Amino acid sequence: MENRSTESVMLGQKVKMPVALAPVGLTGMQWADGKILAARAAEKVGVPVIPVPAPATGDTRADTRGRFLRDLRISVTDRCNFRCTYCMPKSVFGKEYKFLPETELLSFEEISRLTRLFVACGVEKIRLTGGEPLLRKNLQILIAMLAVLKTPDGQPLDLTLTTNASLLSRKAKSLKAAGLQRVTVSLDSLDEAVFRAMNDVDFAVADVLEGIDAAHDAGFAPIKINMVVKKGVNDQDIVGMARRFKGSGHIVRFIEFMDVGSSNGWRMNEVVPSAEIVRRISAELPLIAAEPNYPGEVAGRWAYADGSGEIGVISSVTQAFCSTCTRARLSTDGQLYTCLFAQSGYDLRGLTRSGQSDGQIAEAIGLIWNQRADRYSESRTAATSRTKKIEMSYIGG
Ligand code: SAM
Ligand code: SF4
Ligand code: SF4
Repeated sequence: MENRSTESVMLGQKVKMPVALAPVGLTGMQWADGKILAARAAEKVGVPVIPVPAPATGDTRADTRGRFLRDLRISVTDRCNFRCTYCMPKSVFGKEYKFLPETELLSFEEISRLTRLFVACGVEKIRLTGGEPLLRKNLQILIAMLAVLKTPDGQPLDLTLTTNASLLSRKAKSLKAAGLQRVTVSLDSLDEAVFRAMNDVDFAVADVLEGIDAAHDAGFAPIKINMVVKKGVNDQDIVGMARRFKGSGHIVRFIEFMDVGSSNGWRMNEVVPSAEIVRRISAELPLIAAEPNYPGEVAGRWAYADGSGEIGVISSVTQAFCSTCTRARLSTDGQLYTCLFAQSGYDLRGLTRSGQSDGQIAEAIGLIWNQRADRYSESRTAATSRTKKIEMSYIGG
């Protein structure tokens, strides 16, 4: 059971929510089914029971650090056809690795219902991710189901997807037709040998570029291109990547290598700080700082001084942005995580499959968010980087 302060754990005696907010995952328990059962289960494991007034359904109250729930990342599959060494190293995700069986996955109906309830709680942006989201069969059907959802004030959602682009040239048109608004493509190097070594399945750069072109032709713009930078592995390609996409309308985003999960062997000395990335690019292609598009934007924006576009830097290690983090994550099997570096989540699938009403589930989401205190990146140390964490492919990158 996650160790929480009394004010951050709640179980409804008066609260109509049927279950203890019992985290699950590495050490927790499943949501109990029904109020009495939940109370008993909570007593058994010693969850403090405090009478917290339930927020109204659709409440968008802030978490304990004043952050509102605005973004939801949904992992639609924990599987991937790449084995990026920083994410799903073969040593862990080898032939023996047991991915979730089909029955464990949230169905499209369940994802769509939960998303509607997250939207009622304040979510405006949805990112489909994984694993490799395009491996999920008939994903365009889910996209069509999500594309019709509206915020409480009638606005469409910002609906996006992150992909390794291996299947993008085949699927770009149908994704666009289904209502997907934007795509982000991951590409770690333009150097064939480096890229093939990083994805570790011998996937070619040209095939990713073809996917990017297909997405562009299908009408996606601007396309964001994520490059995870690892010192001594692909940092020599930083300027080349910037130069290749400068003036294309696409936005390259350089991401500091992070200690997500427990299997990528992260070390601080393999991180190239964003400030260094900007310095290296700017020395050859002058950059000027640009204002964020909106408060809490993850990527720092830098525009080319000659007006030919922009890049982004995601400084999750050297300049943590926890204070403005409005993101929740829904894992492939329906666990809600309030931080990328969480050690446990909350079993929304259990709630969904045990017949709870929309109101009860929305209320649970609101309560979980209200007690959120996550700030992992602000307190990262070498020791925390070695703690057991949920893998990114499962929790959703
Ligand atoms: N498979 C898709 C892809 O690669 O675009 C979506 C899932 S992937 C987990 C989402 C993003 O997380 C990718 O852009 C990937 O590069 C990034 N990522 C994965 N592991 C990372 C790490 N250790 N540090 C920084 N970014 C990472
Ligand atoms: Fe797969 Fe994306 Fe992870 Fe690479 S980063 S292994 S493509 S999920
Ligand atoms: Fe958000 Fe957690 Fe990342 Fe901080 S460490 S920015 S709280 S996901």
